[in-house]
Amino acid sequence: MFCQKCGQEISDNAVMCPNCQTSSSPAVGKTAPKSYLAQAIIVTILCCWPLGIPAIVYAAQVNSKFASGDIEGAAESSKKANMWSWIAFAAGLIVVGGYAAIMALGAIASQN
Ligand SMILES: [Zn+2]
Repeated sequence: MFCQKCGQEISDNAVMCPNCQTSSSPAVGKTAPKSYLAQAIIVTILCCWPLGIPAIVYAAQVNSKFASGDIEGAAESSKKANMWSWIAFAAGLIVVGGYAAIMALGAIASQN
């Protein structure tokens, strides 16, 4: 990799540039945690958007926090995005299941 400050080529696992003593960014050489953005958008569209919104907000934070060098924050947002996606998905299932139950009861009631 190359030093972000002076452009000097330095070893991939160097924590500091030997040329200008700038510590290399912790983000260099690491990949961003999964953002779950696609998952968050899908549950927001298909299920219930009030619960999908936090999933999208956290998903959007993953890459921006990672880009600013906040690796732990990015990992935390990634976890929360995944969690909210599942909450929205579960709530969507309950709503759809409840609606189906009401329709079934209505169909049964109208037969009598
Ligand atoms: Zn340097």
